[in-house]
Amino acid sequence: MTSDDLVVEDAQSRKAQRAPEKKDGLYADTVKIHPKRVKGTIRTIKWAVLWVLLAIYYAVPFVRWDRGAESPDQAILLDLTNRRFYFFDLEIWPQEIYYATFMLAFSAVLLFFVTSLFGRIWCGFACPQTVWTDLYVWVERLIEGDRNARLKLEDAPWTMGKITKRVSKHTIWLIIAALTGGVFVLYFGDAPTMIVEIFSGTASEETYAFVGILTTTTYLLAGMSREQVCTYMCPWPRFQAAMLDEESMVVTYEQHRGEPRGKLKKGENQEGLGDCIDCNLCVAVCPTGIDIRDGIQLECIGCGLCVDACNQVMSRLDRPGNLIKFDTEKNQIALNAGQPATKPRLIRPRTILYGLLVAGIGAVTLFLLGTRSSFEVNILRERAPLFTLLSDGSVRNVYTFKIVNKEREIRQYKLTLEGLPDAKMEIAAKNIVSENNTLTLEAPADNVRAYRLFVEAPPEALKTSDIKVNFILEDLTEGEKANNYTLFKGPDK
Ligand code: SF4
Ligand code: SF4
Repeated sequence: MTSDDLVVEDAQSRKAQRAPEKKDGLYADTVKIHPKRVKGTIRTIKWAVLWVLLAIYYAVPFVRWDRGAESPDQAILLDLTNRRFYFFDLEIWPQEIYYATFMLAFSAVLLFFVTSLFGRIWCGFACPQTVWTDLYVWVERLIEGDRNARLKLEDAPWTMGKITKRVSKHTIWLIIAALTGGVFVLYFGDAPTMIVEIFSGTASEETYAFVGILTTTTYLLAGMSREQVCTYMCPWPRFQAAMLDEESMVVTYEQHRGEPRGKLKKGENQEGLGDCIDCNLCVAVCPTGIDIRDGIQLECIGCGLCVDACNQVMSRLDRPGNLIKFDTEKNQIALNAGQPATKPRLIRPRTILYGLLVAGIGAVTLFLLGTRSSFEVNILRERAPLFTLLSDGSVRNVYTFKIVNKEREIRQYKLTLEGLPDAKMEIAAKNIVSENNTLTLEAPADNVRAYRLFVEAPPEALKTSDIKVNFILEDLTEGEKANNYTLFKGPDK
């Protein structure tokens, strides 16, 4: 076998793409990347991840979850109209937006942790840009053929055949884009109802606008911009450099073994040459068009397709595999210096730090979710006037008292006032007066009830102008209690 069997003659390298075609222009023209099809273990894993993630994205809005007759039965729903987020049995109220903050923080540190261990594994396998671009390239390949056929077609004149292929490709791309945008809005309303509304023309203008925006962005980002999103638009490649060190696993080329590279020629002595036969297959399969043999580069998304490509070549040449492989930079430096490679060290100061952060934020989030209260109280003291002096010398403060009942049934609560002995509480306009500093209140199912509460304290109870009081609310069904500290204002002493 010679390298002529394996060589990818039309290989495009990133450098070639950047060669300025307009000498007087500020920017080089971008050459479109046409990644070649490759088979191998990593490609199989990437296909599996891709289909699983796409299936999750498109199927989740149709998963139902029984929450009783009065509540939506969509398992995951961002109900913006009623300001609720449903996640299976969990129902997040606007007051609990901090859960979203915790979850975002958890996702961010988890990404830092995984990046410090395995490099850009997120970019190469699970990022939506990678997943949709892979899907779009797959469609392109089905219609226009593999890399060489696509390159030929690009330069070919506009015949009927070329027009048919291009129209078919863009039509399927647009259908995928519309499905992507269409499914996205289903996360914000009851999916079956919204589908009927969208197709019958009765959905809201906002719904059509969002479907339109997401269809356009999917088509442009996954179909037209592809690797340029990762290289030029996404900030993550810049950030991730701070998370990586020379012991992180990244895609590397075994220079000590591959160099000096040289093409296989029949009958020629290969002595003195490395294992790399300079076939360019690793460049041809690269979705970002780079040559990993030039070293670790910002454009490398860590997809590992060049690993599969080179392993394919090595196996055909009957040479050991993994000339390109996931390894640490430290190992490559050692091997180039003639020293042995060492086992990658997973436990390092930065992985310990990120690991602790992941565990810490995860534990706090779980604790908060586990101890989540079935109700919330919001108390606001009226400031105009600060207080009212009554004819018998007692002082009145007025509070707006809100109870958020997160349960799906009417709940009764006992309100007790601490810190002001002999004070009287009264619900304005309802004529409900406290007995022994205690009132019974009620809040409707899955709703908020606001009360205007008068608190009157006798003159002898007012030792200072600012008295710290505690409104204790007790859920009479579950016995859960909540303390709510605030001030009772009186005249200066
Ligand atoms: S590294 Fe492997 S795939 Fe790339 S050019 Fe050399 S032999 Fe070919
Ligand atoms: S160099 Fe290899 S790992 Fe990096 S983006 Fe290209 S194919 Fe993927």
